[in-house]
Amino acid sequence: MNSDLQTLYQEIILDHNKNPRNFRVMADATQTLEGFNPLCGDRYTIFLKMRGDVVMDITFQGSGCAISKASASVMSTIVKGKRKEEVLDWFMKFRELVTGKLDAHNREEELGKLAAFAGVSEFPARVKCASLAWHTLKGALELSTATVSTE
Ligand code: ZN
Repeated sequence: MNSDLQTLYQEIILDHNKNPRNFRVMADATQTLEGFNPLCGDRYTIFLKMRGDVVMDITFQGSGCAISKASASVMSTIVKGKRKEEVLDWFMKFRELVTGKLDAHNREEELGKLAAFAGVSEFPARVKCASLAWHTLKGALELSTATVSTE
């Protein structure tokens, strides 16, 4: 990855950590689920408003490290308005990206801001931070009610 791109990706993560998007409680959520990463202490609640299988709205609340918060924020901007199946496709893509199984090179346009998390694959301890919100979202979409834990 060239250093300009790396700088851009760092800026995306810093920006979403400092000014997280959709960071609020949703009073009329149709699904709510908590996710916890005991390794780092990241803890978030995901709020979903579904109509059929479409994510009409998504918000989150909670606290954790910069990677976990930025990831939840970017995720919320990506999945809003998407169908459950599309969201699960993005989840798969994200998981492959942060575990180094998907080469983000030359796929920046397709991946958008998600590509900012490609560097996480070099830091195995941070993979759980980056993935927490996605795992929690998946649980919420599957109507799970038990807290999602990365352990
Ligand atoms: Zn973390």
